[in-house]
Amino acid sequence: MQKVIFNEEKCKGCELCTTVCPKKIVYMDEKKINSKGFHPATVTQQEECISCGFCAMMCPDVVIEVRRPSKEGKKDE
Ligand code: SF4
Ligand code: SF4
Repeated sequence: MQKVIFNEEKCKGCELCTTVCPKKIVYMDEKKINSKGFHPATVTQQEECISCGFCAMMCPDVVIEVRRPSKEGKKDE
């Protein structure tokens, strides 16, 4: 599942989120350019994400949404 989701169109390419990820999986996607003209931040190794939320907390433009997977057999509250 997608644990961390980037609203790539809103990203301004400041790279702050890439500095705080303890797993070092956030990177600037140089293959893409959004409508503002920036390479947007992204994560492709979703399975490595620990849903710590640091990247989302750091982003000044609220680009990032982090989901915490619920434990198997336990319902979301
Ligand atoms: S939630 Fe944590 S582990 Fe996942 S991408 Fe963001 S900073 Fe990295
Ligand atoms: S902190 Fe936010 S605006 Fe800056 S690069 Fe990361 S996602 Fe983009």
